[in-house]
Amino acid sequence: MGVFNLLSQYGYGRLHLSRDAATGLSAIVAIHDTRLGPALGGCRFIHYAGEDEAIVDALRLARGMTYKAAITGLPLGGGKSVIIRPTVDFNRGALFRAFGKFVGELGGQYITAEDSGTSLEDMEVIRTATKWVTGVAPENGGSGDPSPFTALGVRRGIEATVKFVMKRDDIAGLHVAVQGIGHVGYYLCKELHALGAKLTVADVDPLKSERAEREFGAAIVPLDQLFTTECDVLAPCALGSALNDGTIPRLRCKIVAGAANNQLAEPRHGDDLMQRGILYAPDYAINAGGLINVATELEGYDAEKSRAKVTKIYDTILEIAERARRAMKPTHQIADMMAEERLSRAGGG
Ligand code: NAD
Repeated sequence: MGVFNLLSQYGYGRLHLSRDAATGLSAIVAIHDTRLGPALGGCRFIHYAGEDEAIVDALRLARGMTYKAAITGLPLGGGKSVIIRPTVDFNRGALFRAFGKFVGELGGQYITAEDSGTSLEDMEVIRTATKWVTGVAPENGGSGDPSPFTALGVRRGIEATVKFVMKRDDIAGLHVAVQGIGHVGYYLCKELHALGAKLTVADVDPLKSERAEREFGAAIVPLDQLFTTECDVLAPCALGSALNDGTIPRLRCKIVAGAANNQLAEPRHGDDLMQRGILYAPDYAINAGGLINVATELEGYDAEKSRAKVTKIYDTILEIAERARRAMKPTHQIADMMAEERLSRAGGG
């Protein structure tokens, strides 16, 4: 499909591309919406089968960032960038410097950050070419690893769903099944364990599950049994599309609330969860803690301020659940409506 067709399919007016022969840079910056503020979103650096795939990834992800910032109440728009990983040898420092120059040329409409395939070190290199970068090292005024903040937000989101479904203010003794004990999953288990929750975990890497068993007394189950575990909350913290035609009929939980992006394989799976009486905490609302944390850098980073803002994810998730009940609609639709309401209140186009 041609680029202009893709732009019209995803509702974009513009797309920014940069090619730098000297470093092998082929980069795409997608800015979806700036009504609420400059577009902040991570930079992906992975292999793509072709240019179309890279462009679609940037367009899709940038739109997701618009909704995430809007539902969270941040003064930010939605953007994302993609650098197509060269298939031949390249100088990583030179490539990210060239990318930083490209971001700088956009004059602050787009602010970059870490994402799949990029690191804090890459953000430090970008910083030598532009100020429009977040997620830099703490010694340079940055916010460092976002994962503990994402996990804090997910824990607060879980508390809100538990309040809504079980009318409980605490999570002591609550049974949470966590899929994926990576950066966020590990910190989420730590948060939940500290508050007395009972954990069941599964990860493709047995060392990660064993660490959760050792440190938090988690029970380990085989990968294919996690979603059939009878529990109060299922927390998908691994890959996207975890909630699909194969998994949903087997769920034995009351709530799905986890960190993974794009948990619903298709929007209709959100409807399916509702019909089965399972409360779903929309992914982009519950996992916004990392975005809130990097955004705090823009006003002078302060970890305490950041934590205070992240804890408010509780209110967002509770509001989504309450509105969904009143409207008798699935939570993913209500989250989109709330984000769109905020965008339209901001006016512009
Ligand atoms: P990560 O790569 O550190 O962790 C993912 C973990 O899932 C790994 O331990 C991996 O072994 C495991 N895993 C992969 N496939 C699995 C499977 N089929 N079953 C069980 N475990 C499996 O990633 P992360 O940074 O912890 O992010 C987790 C999810 O949260 C991702 O979807 C990410 O996009 C999303 N997210 C992360 C952040 C953040 O701050 N890191 C913020 C927002 C959203």
